[in-house]
Amino acid sequence: MSEFTFEKHAQDGRARTGVISTPRGEIRTPAFMPVGTAATVKAMLPGSVRETGADILLGNTYHLMLRPTAERIAALGGLHKFMNWERPILTDSGGFQVMSLAGLRKLTEEGVTFKSHIDGSKHALTPERSMEIQALLGSDIVMCFDECPALPADRGRIAQSMELSMRWAARSKVAFGDRPGHALFGIQQGGLEEDLRAQSAEALREIGFDGYAVGGLAVGEGQEAMFGCLDYAPEQLPEDKPRYLMGVGKPDDIVGAVARGIDMMDCVLPSRSGRTGQAFTRHGVVNIRNARHLDDPRPLDEACGCPACQNYSRAYLHHVTRSKEIIGSMLMTWHNLRYYQDLMAGMREAIAAGSFESWQRAFHAGRAQGDIDPL
Ligand SMILES: [Zn+2]
Repeated sequence: MSEFTFEKHAQDGRARTGVISTPRGEIRTPAFMPVGTAATVKAMLPGSVRETGADILLGNTYHLMLRPTAERIAALGGLHKFMNWERPILTDSGGFQVMSLAGLRKLTEEGVTFKSHIDGSKHALTPERSMEIQALLGSDIVMCFDECPALPADRGRIAQSMELSMRWAARSKVAFGDRPGHALFGIQQGGLEEDLRAQSAEALREIGFDGYAVGGLAVGEGQEAMFGCLDYAPEQLPEDKPRYLMGVGKPDDIVGAVARGIDMMDCVLPSRSGRTGQAFTRHGVVNIRNARHLDDPRPLDEACGCPACQNYSRAYLHHVTRSKEIIGSMLMTWHNLRYYQDLMAGMREAIAAGSFESWQRAFHAGRAQGDIDPL
C-alpha cells in the first residue's frame, strides 16, 4: 500500500500548490472539500460531485455515529462503499459538532458525554472513541479529537481549552496507532492569541502528525480577525505538511486563506446556499429567487461549464427554485460546487505560474462588478 505524502510543487508569496497522495487517489492543493454530512453531499450523486472537480469529500463523525452508526457502516463495507465514493474522505472528529449541535453536554478530562439532537439518546466521545469511529468508517484523513470554545471567549478559557486539546491530541495519536496509507491530522487551537497558537503548534509538532489543521476559527470572529490570525498561525505549523483550515468559508475567505498559506478547506456554504437559491458567481452572489430573473433567458454564469449554466436559463432556475422542485436544489448545488472547484483550479494555476497577485486582483474586480444588468 502506498503511503500518504504531500509534495509542494510551487509557492507564490505565502500561497502554495501541490499534491497530497493517498492510496485512494491524489488531492490537488489548494483543495476545497464538499461536505457530505450524512454520507451524502445533499442533492448530488457522487459521480456528479467528482465531475465538479472535487478530489476529496468530508464526512461528519458526529452525524454518522448517531445515524446509521459507525458499526453499521463498517459491517456494510465502510463509508466509501456505503456512499459510493471511492476517492479520499476526510472525517472530522465529532468534537466541534457535539459542541454546536448536541444537547446537555458534559465535558471532562476523559471526553464529552452528550444527548443526541435526533432522539435524546446518551453518547460519549473521547479521543479513543473518535479514533475508533473514524477507523470503522475507513476515513483516509482522520482528525484529532479536540475541544474549541466559541469566540469571543476570555484568554483563560481559551488557554485551558487549548491545553486540554493538546492532551487529547496525544491520546488521539496513541489510539490512531499505525495505519499505513491513512493520515492523522493534529488541530491547532489558541483562539486569536498568537502566543497560545505558538504553544499549540509546538505541542503538536512534538507529537508529530501527517498534517495540521488551524482549528477554532470561523466561529463568529469575523473575516478581519480570522485573517489577522492566519497572518501568523499557518507559518507556526510545519512547512512540509498540509495545512487545513476547518469550516471555511465564503469565496473571498477561501482566497484570503490560500494567500496566507492554507492548503485545504471545507464548508457547507456552496451546497447549503444552493438549496436556498443563492448562487456564487464570478460577479458575486446571485439570488435566483429574485423576480428580476422571471423572464431572463440568459445562463446564471456564462463562463461556467456546469449543467445548470450550460443547459438552463435563469428563468428556469428561478421557476424550479420558487416551486421547490428537487431539480432546483440539484442544479443550484451543482453550480455552486463547480464554482468553488473552478476557484481552486484557478488559484492552483496562478500559484504555479507565479501570478497569484494579479489573479487575486481580477477575482476581487469581478466580484466588485456585481451581477449582469437586468434585461
Ligand atoms: Zn454553473
